Amino acid sequence: MKHDTSRIVLPELLPSAELMRLMLMIREAQHIVVTAHHGPDGDAVGSTLAWAAYLRRLGKQVTIALPSWFPDFLKWMPGSRQILIYRDQPEAVKNALRQADLVCSLDYNELSRLNLMEDAVARCSAPRLLIDHHEEPNEEQFSLLISRPKMSSTCELVLRLLVQLGAYPDMTRSEAACLYTGIMTDTGNFAYNSNDANLYLFVSLLLRKGVDKESIYKKVYQSWSVGKFTLWNDALSQWLTFHAGGHASVFMMTREMMKSHKFIRGDAEGLVNEPLKIHGMKLSISLREDTEEDVVRVSLRSTDGFHCREMAERYFNGGGHEDASGGTLPFPIEEAYETTKRAIEAYEAELSQS
Ligand code: 5GP
Ligand code: MN
Repeated sequence: MKHDTSRIVLPELLPSAELMRLMLMIREAQHIVVTAHHGPDGDAVGSTLAWAAYLRRLGKQVTIALPSWFPDFLKWMPGSRQILIYRDQPEAVKNALRQADLVCSLDYNELSRLNLMEDAVARCSAPRLLIDHHEEPNEEQFSLLISRPKMSSTCELVLRLLVQLGAYPDMTRSEAACLYTGIMTDTGNFAYNSNDANLYLFVSLLLRKGVDKESIYKKVYQSWSVGKFTLWNDALSQWLTFHAGGHASVFMMTREMMKSHKFIRGDAEGLVNEPLKIHGMKLSISLREDTEEDVVRVSLRSTDGFHCREMAERYFNGGGHEDASGGTLPFPIEEAYETTKRAIEAYEAELSQS
């Protein structure tokens, strides 16, 4: 088949009526709070920083408020020091919410994903704008929803919005770097959720801003401490168990173990993907004792036609994407492990299908 390159055009994201509603909503707001989910990742931090920068250029007063800390390996992101963390500064966030006439909800699909910041945002009477790529957003909680579950990341979605809003020419290299980071981390450096050809048209716009993708890769993926390296080795060599005839695996990280490896925020991120390198492995689950709350954080990743989201909803009080989900169990890690085994047993037939 011949492909005609003379006709490459950037596809538009929003139909004009929706675009008008968005523009109107922004125009009417002066004090804006931009939020993302608990346990923010590269996509959450990158999309809020870039979206906030755009709003500030329009002359708005903008506060970025995240429920909890983001990983240390994202601290280099330009502007990240101005982010308010609700866990540390609840009053400052509540103050911003009191003045807010618009709340932007990025990279999450319902308020419960804000965890301890949920009530503060729910009580705020300002209209809520959702910009997100998770399935099945809670429509009642938002005044305007820009929900695109097919997109790789909220950063891709924000980039495409900014292009359509005419904000690309003024975008700085730092903002482009933030957006690139979120796309990179949500696709595992373009390993998954990244088959859409249009994604690369938009990524090329970021590179044109002078983004150094190799340096970002290094800062995010190759800046490990010795402790992180030994933690990963320990978790996989001592704590990994196999289930469902080798199609599923589970590993645990206890608080004690994390302490002995001098754990810092973000050190466990990505580890759950490792067992999927094994041939035939369709599901990887990690159980991690939270360092701040008395709960076990569950991460699920799946591949080869098995989808973990339903399991996350049914067994782990969670949800997420088809192949990347998470949840929380409010009991000791040994019990969490038993629940996990039961969950895998319930899906054993499906996991064993070739
Ligand atoms: P992670 O394993 O990286 O913490 O999360 C993977 C995916 O699952 C993310 O897209 C995240 O939004 C989603 N997720 C994580 N924890 C929860 C949860 O408790 N509830 C829901 N609904 N989604 C979650
Ligand atoms: Mn995301």
